[in-house]
Amino acid sequence: TDALEIQGLTKTYDDGFEALKGIDLRVEQGDFFALLGPNGAGKSTTLGIVSSLVNKSGGSVRVFGHDIDTDLSAAKLNLGVVPQEFNFNQFEKVQDIVTTQAGYYGIPLRQASKAAEKYLRKLGLWDKRDTPARMLSGGMKRRLMIARALVHEPGLLILDEPTAGVDIELRRSMWAFLEEMNRQGTTIILTTHYLEEAEALCRNIAIIDHGQILRHTSKRELLQQL
Ligand code: ADP
Ligand code: ADP
Repeated sequence: TDALEIQGLTKTYDDGFEALKGIDLRVEQGDFFALLGPNGAGKSTTLGIVSSLVNKSGGSVRVFGHDIDTDLSAAKLNLGVVPQEFNFNQFEKVQDIVTTQAGYYGIPLRQASKAAEKYLRKLGLWDKRDTPARMLSGGMKRRLMIARALVHEPGLLILDEPTAGVDIELRRSMWAFLEEMNRQGTTIILTTHYLEEAEALCRNIAIIDHGQILRHTSKRELLQQL
């Protein structure tokens, strides 16, 4: 089974705008995949549907074979999502944000605390564990979102423009972190409008524009054609 399989995905927003016009996408287990395209192409809409934050109009989505229409809780257990906007409680402490998330997955508290510590350490946030999230810098908040997305150790990690507004130094360390996660077996999908980012990190790339996939190819093939 593929880590992610999207077939014929369409989305028409309530105002009548057709944001997705029939997207097909397959991401194999172990891949590091970029969904590349300009602003407004439909990247966030696609990821919003996969993470069931946005309702689709048509088509199907499977996460490790689990259809989000019929098997949503199993799909969710296999999926960690890092949205663009900070959507945690700014007044909650860093460690609590991560362990609370683990609770949503039914992970026992002891195990949740362990997983939270593991990822907060890896992401350089352990010293900030008792700090309310609102006191963190933008880059730290971004890393907190990643720790929270990983606490249930999902097979697939999806990040929406993970390095938007992030300085070059942090970008490099985030790239290194994601590469390490991928080496250890986590399938990673990110959206980006930077060709440079897709080029640096990813093995396979799909290019999306105006709600359609223009190309679905390996990075090597794409770079040869440019
Ligand atoms: P859904 O059909 O998934 O429920 P909606 O069409 O209800 O989605 O829109 C979700 C939210 O996004 C609404 O609050 C809407 O006001 C807001 N929204 C509307 N237009 C845009 C836009 N062009 N870009 C981003 N958000 C928008
Ligand atoms: P990307 O992530 O590639 O920048 P999005 O998926 O955010 O693109 O948006 C795709 C298109 O859908 C854009 O034209 C955007 O304005 C529109 N859009 C996004 N959300 C809404 C919404 N809630 N209502 C209406 N249009 C929307």
